Amino acid sequence: MTNIAFIGLGNMGGPMAANLVKAGHAVTGVDLSDAAKEALVSVGGSVANTAYEAAQIADVVVTMLPAGPHVEAVYADVMTTAKPGTLFIDSSTIDVPTARNVIAKAEEAGFYMVDAPVSGGTAAAEAGTLTFMTGGTSTAFEKAEPYLDIMGKNVFHAGDAGNGQVAKVANNMLLAISMIGTAEAFNLAEKLGLDAQTFFDISSTASGQCWSMTSYCPAPGPVPTAPANKDYAPGFAAAMMLKDLRLALDAAKTAGAAIPLGAQSSALYTLMESAGKDDLDFSAIIKLISGDL
Ligand code: NAD
Repeated sequence: MTNIAFIGLGNMGGPMAANLVKAGHAVTGVDLSDAAKEALVSVGGSVANTAYEAAQIADVVVTMLPAGPHVEAVYADVMTTAKPGTLFIDSSTIDVPTARNVIAKAEEAGFYMVDAPVSGGTAAAEAGTLTFMTGGTSTAFEKAEPYLDIMGKNVFHAGDAGNGQVAKVANNMLLAISMIGTAEAFNLAEKLGLDAQTFFDISSTASGQCWSMTSYCPAPGPVPTAPANKDYAPGFAAAMMLKDLRLALDAAKTAGAAIPLGAQSSALYTLMESAGKDDLDFSAIIKLISGDL
């Protein structure tokens, strides 16, 4: 049994912390929301008022926070109180420079740390089937792996500090591009008189096939489990996708990488945001494209 401090018990962090409890660990949760803390207590965890307090007794600290500034602030507190040699796992999706800076500070101060953002939404967090993309030293990765294995199904070591965030941002940019492409294709086919199911049957076995089509089709009908059949309730909200695309834009600027389609995707999801529809699933981009939003 390990003493784990879990900071950020939101939509993702709540079920991830619950899985660590189920695996027999002593999890102390921290969140700004009382309801989130109560949910952890109801599955057998305990709570503390601050990250500072929770980190004092922890062997492992896991964070699942909204963005880079939250991660920076929480670890500034945690590092003043955690025992030397404590392992830090940040699973939030944040910008690459912040991930690298916080890990460098942690290592200088005698801690082990990995960035370990996830792919898979709340259902995967609940089922313990997340994919972890992990950056950090081999030693830190080996220390983190047993805990990541509890919360996830596929655990990758992507290389040095920050490389987990690099994998995440590049993957999600590709997902946005493929979703928009799929939405354009279904809209074009329909406008030309070809129904969604027939186009799906053909394209899903032809060269247009991709995950956005066969697992998450943006047109209602062909994939029964897709958000398109539930009025585009997320799933993965367009606002979240836009957050990741903005991280991709910033990262591309820093690296001098051309991402013309990533930039266009960000512009299209910004239109969903301006229309006040970014709480819909990201596959609802088909409604923007078809003029239905
Ligand atoms: P969320 O907003 O539901 O949860 C974040 C939690 O952090 C909230 O409960 C908030 O109260 C808490 N928090 C904020 N500042 C805090 C602080 N200083 N101390 C303690 N708690 C604090 O968000 P989420 O959906 O759980 O996402 C968390 C991270 O995971 C984000 O970086 C997101 O981009 C990423 N992510 C989300 C999904 C998804 O489908 N929801 C999928 C993959 C990755």
